[in-house]
Amino acid sequence: MRISRLFSLTLFVWIIGISTAYAQTPVQKHGDLRVSGKHIVDKNGAVTSLAGPSFFWSNTGWGQDRFYTRGAVNTFAKDWKAGIVRVAVGAQNDGSILKDRRGNLKRAQTVIEAAIDNGLYVIVDWHSHQAERDVKEAQAFFTHIAKRYGHTPNIIYEIYNEPLDTTDWNRVIKPYAEVMIKTIRQIDPDNLIIVGTQSWATEVDKAADNPIRGQKNILYALHFYAATHKEFVREKAEYAIKKGLPLIISEWGSVTYSGDGFVDIDSSIEWMRFAKKHGLTHLNWAVSDKDETASMLKPGASSHGGWREQDLTISGRLAREIIRNW
Ligand code: MG
Repeated sequence: MRISRLFSLTLFVWIIGISTAYAQTPVQKHGDLRVSGKHIVDKNGAVTSLAGPSFFWSNTGWGQDRFYTRGAVNTFAKDWKAGIVRVAVGAQNDGSILKDRRGNLKRAQTVIEAAIDNGLYVIVDWHSHQAERDVKEAQAFFTHIAKRYGHTPNIIYEIYNEPLDTTDWNRVIKPYAEVMIKTIRQIDPDNLIIVGTQSWATEVDKAADNPIRGQKNILYALHFYAATHKEFVREKAEYAIKKGLPLIISEWGSVTYSGDGFVDIDSSIEWMRFAKKHGLTHLNWAVSDKDETASMLKPGASSHGGWREQDLTISGRLAREIIRNW
C-alpha cells in the first residue's frame, strides 16, 4: 500500500514536471537575451533564433491599428506558437505617433503588455523611413519605453525601421543610431537594440564595413521581400556575417517590396533556409487585412484573434506554417 502510494506520488510529480517543462513560455525558456559574436544567445549561452509576426503601421485611422489587441497577441502565442512579435509604431505620415501620441502609445502598450503576459519577446520599432528628422521625438519615445519596460527580459528596441537608399550609413544612420543607443542605455543597460541599415535594411554590408563600436547587445536589421530580394541581398548578408556582424530579420515579406504582388513561396523557403543556417530571428510582415498580398488576414477578420484557416490569406497561411514549425 505504502509503496504504491509513493509510486503514484512520484508519478504525479513527474507528470507535473514534464507538463511544466512543456508549458514554458519562450521568455521562461530563454531569459535575458544578449549578443555573442554574430548571434543572439540566451541565458544559457545557446544560440537563439525566434520567429513571429510583425504588426502593421500603428497609425491612427489607417485601419490596421485595430489589430493592436491582447486577443491577437494571445493567438500568436498559443496558436501560432510565436516566440516574438513586433510592434510597428508609425512614426511618419498621417495618424503617426508624432500626431497622435496618446493613441499610438496606447496601442503599442497593449501589445507590449500582452506579449509580456504571454512570455513572448517583443520588438518595439520606430516605424519610419526618415527617423533622422525626428530625433527628439524618437528619444522621448524610447526613454518612455525603456523606463516602463526596460527591466523586463521581453523588450527589444528597434530604433529606425528602414532608412532610404539615399540615406548614408556613415554620415546619417550610424550617427543617429549612436545618439539613440546612448539615450536608451542611460536607462536600460542591457536589452537588445536593433539598428536599421541603408536601402530599406538591405545594405548590411555597409554596416559591416563600419559597425558601431564600444557598445554591447547591438543587432543590425536585414529586411527582405522574397519576390524582389533574392541572391543579391543574400550576398550582402553573407558578406556581413563573414565579417561577424550580428543580423536580425526584423521584417520580411513573402511578396514584392511594395507589400503587394506575387506570393513567392519558393523564394521564401530559400530565405528561411538561409535564416536557419545562420541562426537568425525573423518576423513576418504583416498583421493586416489591407487589400494587398502581404496581409496575413482576409478583409473583415476579427480584431481580437482566434482566426481560423479560412480567415488567413495565402501569405498568412505560409507565415503561420513557418512560425509554428520554427
Ligand atoms: Mg534591461
